[in-house]
Amino acid sequence: MKFNTKLIHGNSKLDGTGATNTPIYLSNAYAHTSAEKLENIFQGKDMGYAYTRISNPTVTAFERRIASIENGLVATSAASGMSAIYLAVMNVVQSGDEIIASSGLYGGTYTLMRNLKSFGIKVNFLEDINEVTLNTAINAKTKLVFAETIGNPRLDVLDIEEVSKVCRDNNIIFIIDSTMTTPYLVKPFEYGADIVIHSTSKYINGTSNAIGGVIVDGGSSKYADEKYENFKPYTKKFGKMAFTAKLKDTIGRDIGPALSPANAFLNLTGVETLSLRMKEHCKNALAVAKFLESSEKITSVNYPGLVSSKYHNLAKKYYKNGYGGILTFRLGNKEKAFKFLDNLKLILNLTNIGDTKSIIIHPSSTICANNTEDEKRQMGVYDDLLRLSVGIEDVEDIIEDIKEALR
Ligand code: PLP
Repeated sequence: MKFNTKLIHGNSKLDGTGATNTPIYLSNAYAHTSAEKLENIFQGKDMGYAYTRISNPTVTAFERRIASIENGLVATSAASGMSAIYLAVMNVVQSGDEIIASSGLYGGTYTLMRNLKSFGIKVNFLEDINEVTLNTAINAKTKLVFAETIGNPRLDVLDIEEVSKVCRDNNIIFIIDSTMTTPYLVKPFEYGADIVIHSTSKYINGTSNAIGGVIVDGGSSKYADEKYENFKPYTKKFGKMAFTAKLKDTIGRDIGPALSPANAFLNLTGVETLSLRMKEHCKNALAVAKFLESSEKITSVNYPGLVSSKYHNLAKKYYKNGYGGILTFRLGNKEKAFKFLDNLKLILNLTNIGDTKSIIIHPSSTICANNTEDEKRQMGVYDDLLRLSVGIEDVEDIIEDIKEALR
């Protein structure tokens, strides 16, 4: 199947009723007529369902769809993007280990990484993740490299192949958050990432009616390296499925941040139109970026689709079909930025991205309010910076709203 067909049919199975949409199985537990069957399900020897915190038919259908569109081996969902990131990271590292992460990470992820200190895990933030900086930062304790396909809101495009190569040469697990780009724009497994994460709350769901996250396992053989002694029992038994097997057997089960079956249903419905929506998001964002660039009232615009962006060539290399729906721009000072926000009528001032609706935020006073001034500088967050997630309304209306507010 090609990509658009997979969005609708990938890994799908009709249930006995022939329902074309997977029903929402709102059942916490599943009865079995033989004790042996339930024993086998518990011990992973037989397929089937026991308890929705562990697995659920609607959630499984969504996970299978995501694994299909991302070209991964298997996917595991979670109650939010943050819990997906937490599970994936803590599935790899333990006390005494080190992580290398981009300093341009989404604020919530940056804080999560910073807070790992209390578990004895050190995170080395790099302002620019490339072959040279990585090779300098890697040491015997480094177990994980974590980055985003494009930083939120720094909008720095990652050279995925370059980072993958260093990770491969050093046998270090490479996890990438592809929330901002989605598999419509980039498929990180094609460039050597080991694990791909999405906050499905954004473009995958598409209309902001369900918080969720997903961890896609690309089936790496790195877990067999002797430095990952915590994976040993799993690589022996599950081979390339070791990451997911460990996740399901340990931290996933311990913490239990299961995706709600109702949210899985909404995501399954939403993801079918991912390509159609992304196409419009990309087209509108480019038009808005060009308009902003032409306005004298805007001091700078950051969008990888603009030829003026220092990430334009990298974006051209990695992103198929467009440059994404997010851009940032600066207005000179915080007062002007706030006044602009207060004068918008169509574009909503709220914390989110990837909705059909155009939405905007002042990151410094909101999503990055818990970060220090130095961290904000590293994250590319300034007092006059606004982040705009361009929706799929008629672009003339979006631009008119911006024009009016600028006036
Ligand atoms: N990753 C990125 C790039 C995000 O932008 C966000 C949220 O904005 C998250 C992860 C966290 O996702 P969630 O809000 O679903 O927990």
